[in-house]
Amino acid sequence: MADRPQRRNRTPKHATVVRTERLTPHMIRVVLAVDPASALEIGAHTDHYVKLLFPPEGVTYPEPLDIEAIRRDLPSEQWPRTRTYTVRAWDEASRELTVDFVHHGDEGLAGPWAAAARPGESVHFMGPGGGYAPDPTADWHLLAGDESALPAIAAALEQLPPGAPAKVFVEVAGLDEEQKLPTAGEADIVWLHRGGGPIGAALVEAVTALDFPAGDVQVFVHGEAGFVKELRRHLRLDRAVPRERLSISGYWRRGADEDGWQASKREWNDEVEREQER
Ligand SMILES: Cc1cc2nc3c(=O)[nH]c(=O)nc-3n(C[C@H](O)[C@H](O)[C@H](O)COP(=O)(O)OP(=O)(O)OC[C@H]3O[C@@H](n4cnc5c(N)ncnc54)[C@H](O)[C@@H]3O)c2cc1C
Repeated sequence: MADRPQRRNRTPKHATVVRTERLTPHMIRVVLAVDPASALEIGAHTDHYVKLLFPPEGVTYPEPLDIEAIRRDLPSEQWPRTRTYTVRAWDEASRELTVDFVHHGDEGLAGPWAAAARPGESVHFMGPGGGYAPDPTADWHLLAGDESALPAIAAALEQLPPGAPAKVFVEVAGLDEEQKLPTAGEADIVWLHRGGGPIGAALVEAVTALDFPAGDVQVFVHGEAGFVKELRRHLRLDRAVPRERLSISGYWRRGADEDGWQASKREWNDEVEREQER
């Protein structure tokens, strides 16, 4: 997630829910039809993401949505709340944008929204941003994440060049959360079942125990901020992976909603950087 959305990508776009599908007990696919007037530059990255906008209960905005006017004219409690989601797929011809939501319970905005979404429902979003795509010149790829990063990992696997070697670790709650992950790459995909264990513990164990193949590795590690922090330290310090070969960030943080996590993220990242320099 290196690039922030360009300024033009901060213009809200409008979309309508076309259909939804429960891929697994806790993963809901929502397919959106994006209005023809909204230009979307999607394709350069496999971790493209959009920021869905959720108005607070009882608040409506004039159309077309003008974020700058909202921020200028309304008190902050009435600003839309944003939730960040990977573009799992984008079909330019049909203008269908596919997003896979973890339904992590009744808490939050986006998870419950996806669970209740019905065809015809409206949603606004900003973006896309993005910053990673498999580099065809890498000797091998390491991809690791929890359910929240699974859409981006699946999209990356679809773009792996034929025969490209990849070690892939995906942590999910259990067997019924596994998905088919098509790829032309030579991918060794390991599903880790969390069961009742702490989020990310199995990922940290698996990646630290990995017998690293030789050569230039390109890394994509995302998910809950706690395990991401541990793996960042491990990959930078113990494995000496160069910073520019690492796409690694906390997608969410246990105990914080996205507003809280995004507000503390800079401080958190600075702290991680300081620890690594000690
Ligand atoms: C670049 C990027 C791409 C992302 N792509 C995806 C994606 O494709 N699919 C996806 O599902 N998520 C994705 N995420 C993560 C998603 O933005 C967060 O999980 C977000 O907090 C969910 O919003 P919410 O409204 O459902 O819950 P919030 O209101 O933000 O949080 C409510 C509570 O739920 C907890 N929580 C949040 N997410 C999870 C989770 N995954 N599992 C368990 N508990 C959770 C929080 O800690 C909090 O206690 C992405 C994040 C980033 C930064």
